Amino acid sequence: MREKNEASASTPSSSEPARAPKEDARAFAPSEVLPYGDVASSEPDWIALLAHLPGGVSRFDRELRFLFINAEQAHWYGRSVSDITGRKLSEVVPAERYARALSFLKKALHGKTVVYENRVDRGDGDLHIRQITFIPERNAEGAVVGTISFVIDITESRRAESALVQSQTQLLSLFQALPDLVFTKDSQGRFIAANAMFTRFFGMETGEAIFGQRSADLLPADISARWERQDSMVLLTGNPQRSEERLSDAAGRHVGIFDVIKSPLRDAAGRIVGVLGVARDVSARCQAESEVERLAYYDTLTDLPNRRLFTKTLRESLTAAARCRAGAVLLIDLDHFKTINDTLGHDAGDRLLQLVGARLADTMPAARIVARFGGDDFAVLLEEPVTQASESDELPSDAWRDAVCIVAQGLLEILQRPYRAGERHHFSPPSIGIAMYGGASALSVDELLKRAELAMYEAKARGRNGFCLFDPAMEAALAKRAALESALRAGIAKGELRLHYQAIVNVDGNVSGAEALVRWKHPAHGLMAPCEFIGLAEDSGLIIPVGEWVLRSACGQLAGWSARTATQALTIAVNVSARQFRHPDFVAMVRSALDETGADATLLKLELTESLLFHDTADVVSKMESLRALGIRMSLDDFGTGYSSLTYLKRLPIDQLKIDRSFVADVLSDPTDAVIVRAVLSLAASLELDVVAEGVETLEQVQWLREEGCRLFQGFYFSRPKPVGELEKEMGLSI
Ligand code: C2E
Ligand code: CA
Ligand code: CA
Repeated sequence: MREKNEASASTPSSSEPARAPKEDARAFAPSEVLPYGDVASSEPDWIALLAHLPGGVSRFDRELRFLFINAEQAHWYGRSVSDITGRKLSEVVPAERYARALSFLKKALHGKTVVYENRVDRGDGDLHIRQITFIPERNAEGAVVGTISFVIDITESRRAESALVQSQTQLLSLFQALPDLVFTKDSQGRFIAANAMFTRFFGMETGEAIFGQRSADLLPADISARWERQDSMVLLTGNPQRSEERLSDAAGRHVGIFDVIKSPLRDAAGRIVGVLGVARDVSARCQAESEVERLAYYDTLTDLPNRRLFTKTLRESLTAAARCRAGAVLLIDLDHFKTINDTLGHDAGDRLLQLVGARLADTMPAARIVARFGGDDFAVLLEEPVTQASESDELPSDAWRDAVCIVAQGLLEILQRPYRAGERHHFSPPSIGIAMYGGASALSVDELLKRAELAMYEAKARGRNGFCLFDPAMEAALAKRAALESALRAGIAKGELRLHYQAIVNVDGNVSGAEALVRWKHPAHGLMAPCEFIGLAEDSGLIIPVGEWVLRSACGQLAGWSARTATQALTIAVNVSARQFRHPDFVAMVRSALDETGADATLLKLELTESLLFHDTADVVSKMESLRALGIRMSLDDFGTGYSSLTYLKRLPIDQLKIDRSFVADVLSDPTDAVIVRAVLSLAASLELDVVAEGVETLEQVQWLREEGCRLFQGFYFSRPKPVGELEKEMGLSI
């Protein structure tokens, strides 16, 4: 300061160009300045301080002569302080830099403080940026006598600044480019900023338009209320909040499901100052999820819920006792669907199922759920509303039972109406099984479905096209059946089966053969007739071992009879169930029974029923032909009770018809039966088939049948089924 004052003092007037005093220049020489500071003095030694400054400092007179230059500045020029001091600026810096500096220096000499930047290539590959400030130096009168320059290297700070700007720009473009709706809000719940996606969604021209708006300005009342609540939660707790919203855009064109996440926005100190929200359109994902759900819970053919959804719903209904007082499961099975499917093909079958499904859904709008279980099985769940009956009633109440029966009856009526498929009408009446439960039922889903199924089987057994309520007796019957089945299984192994024979007599009254009829000597129930266990054996598959045992025993008997003259020409007829006949190994089994026993195949007759012809007639015919090739004869049992179609009578390789005993029983009293029997006899004669009249109980019947041309008879009139020894004795065959 002292020097400056002296310099100023030496300048006579401000208008005069200042002349730098020689003393000053010398006084500023570094050798004289260093070391700086006079600790004792109250003022710091400014010159010494300037010399040590990390920036450049120079002092010029009006001729732009260096009166002072500090070490740093001299270093930038690549020269020493003493070398520069006293020289003119034009001698120190390159021409074009001088020219640039001059324009600023002139301003400074006109009394203005000037700041400008220089980019300097120091030859190290980096461009350095220097900020240069020229301050006019005035004397005591205020005249400008020179200028002082301060030069600082701002390369680093500029670099940091531009890096910051760059990263901000990147962040901003990221923010704008995000496909999500992104926004920020202040702590008062006002929008601060939003990205392009957001503003476009809400129909705003620019990003600024959002500033200061509130949720309520953009969103429907219910959503905005929820958003405000979420915002306060975020601001209060700092925990992110998440919700799924159905949002529609300003134009009302796009409606989407958005996954919205709100997180706290913090300042540098970590204080929560606002909310950052991101709303992502997850409509596509939701759609995919619902498609997955549809596939998992719905039947693709009918679009009805599937068994899985039904059981899920039923489980809910059973547990949420408060929802309903009582419920009912209706299982619906189409009675003749299989025949339609087999005869008209699967496409027609599928079409029919779709029609049934649609009809069910249309008629049962009040049902909790209408489902297709697969195949031709449908199910309906009905619930009794809580309000209906009084609390004291036992559940399910009689009123509810009646209501369910009315619904079932209505369903029957609607489902038995014909379905149009192509030009044809089809009928597929249903059988309906119903299981009910009280509101607080302890029954499981499986138990209920099993009950409904039992009731459905019962409905079928009672003659189809009807409905049946579950009754505990059905369960008892089922348990009994199960016990009987395991007893039969054990009984077969323990040799409890017996074979009785019933004589078949010719017109001369001589025995021509016998029908083998199975019995089961149950350890507790005694001798059981086939009607008590053959059905069970057929359902459980036990008919295969039973049938095999019967056939082997009968073949053994044939072989035994062949040894004696009185019996060697007798035939034996064996009953064969449809299921047994369809078994792929049936022909092989028969062949091995013949081989092992040595029985004469020509004396063996197999009695088949028409039910065999429901499925795959070609297979049946080819099996019959293989058996016939062995010499075995075929007989059609219970003739007249089934379809008795003439077409298959012609096609099938059969040798004999057995007129069912129901016709024989009434030939004398019922003219219709007499007509039928006559027709069968003449038909058989024209097709050259034998006829056996079954169930002949009286002499009158024998006489009538004989007059009509019947040649073979079987019935109690001649002999009851009995063990072979007794038969032989009775019929005089034991000699
Ligand atoms: P089905 O083949 O029609 O056998 C004739 C049935 O009529 C026998 O009953 C026989 O006892 C009965 N019957 C014979 N004559 C008269 C009569 O004059 N009046 C009356 N009311 N009935 C008479 P069963 O032995 O109880 O057999 C019943 C059914 O069980 C048989 O009917 C047959 O379908 C089946 N069955 C018997 N044994 C076997 C077998 O080994 N295998 C298979 N799959 N079914 C068998
Ligand atoms: Ca028979
Ligand atoms: Ca029969």
